[in-house]
Amino acid sequence: MRGAVLYAPRDIRVEDRDDPRIEEPTDAVIRLAATCVCGSDLWPYRGVEPVNGPVPMGHEYVGVVEEIGSDVHTIEPGQFVVGSFFASDNTCEICQAGYQSRCVHAELIGAIGTQAEFARIPLADGTLVAAPAMPSDDLVPSLLAASDVLGTGWFAAVAADVQPGKTVVVVGDGAVGLLAVLAARQLGAERIIAMSRHKPRQKLALGFGATDIVTERGDEGVACIKELTNGLGAHCVIEAVGTQESMMQAIRSTRPGGHVGYVGVAHDVALPGDELFFSGVHLHGGPAPVRRFLPELIELICNRTIDPGKVFDLTLPLGRAAEGYRAMDERRAIKTLLRP
Ligand SMILES: [Zn+2]
Repeated sequence: MRGAVLYAPRDIRVEDRDDPRIEEPTDAVIRLAATCVCGSDLWPYRGVEPVNGPVPMGHEYVGVVEEIGSDVHTIEPGQFVVGSFFASDNTCEICQAGYQSRCVHAELIGAIGTQAEFARIPLADGTLVAAPAMPSDDLVPSLLAASDVLGTGWFAAVAADVQPGKTVVVVGDGAVGLLAVLAARQLGAERIIAMSRHKPRQKLALGFGATDIVTERGDEGVACIKELTNGLGAHCVIEAVGTQESMMQAIRSTRPGGHVGYVGVAHDVALPGDELFFSGVHLHGGPAPVRRFLPELIELICNRTIDPGKVFDLTLPLGRAAEGYRAMDERRAIKTLLRP
């Protein structure tokens, strides 16, 4: 099969890889209908994370089940399935509590590499959720978004305790931040303030349900949020970047007793204990347990209540993956969809 492989920073190649096969009785092999490039793929691509190349790339996926192992019981060949970036058994105590990304048997799909024609999915019964029927082609991008960016944005909104009537701030205007806006709207937020200084992203945020745009960041951004919330700060703040500045901006934009939901993968973030102590805010986040939300998200997509697939503003054949990475690296594209 063909698959994307990272050799060194900025050196992505699509080349022949071994066809995946059933290795464990709990595995399934799927034929990818679509896959994509994640903001987190840019960390190794830019060399910010070391590359011990060549490594297969990709952890977002939707597709049709080709083959199952002898111990797979709920997933069948021919089903259209969505899974998340962690395989999980969905039965251990951690999974049952809704934290499947920290399953005691969790396996990272990124190590398998789904920017390819086929992929082996471990723990298929626990990991994969089947769509009610074969989706029409126009629903595929939205179902792919559920695999990571929508599920992550949704978890961020839940972790930030978004509820009807609340004021929500979203720090970060990447695909996750934009879909956190959509999630906050669905969860009934009254006011949603998107922090973004990029016109096309502001437009998408407004389309997903943002009510206000703030272009300032850092201390100036915090001052704007305070001004918009009677000096108190927001009830709910979503952090979808992962830097020191964005994390502090999120905490300082939250009112005492409010909630921060953080899903930006932390890179060198250190929180000052004294400021945290006196802030009185709740902090919750981490790698999103996307699996918890997949059944509900698939239903909302298939009945056309939500259209998260709009975050894909570039679609390319898998063979042109390098171009897709470049476009995201240069911020010419929000998110690249790849068609195997
Ligand atoms: Zn588990």
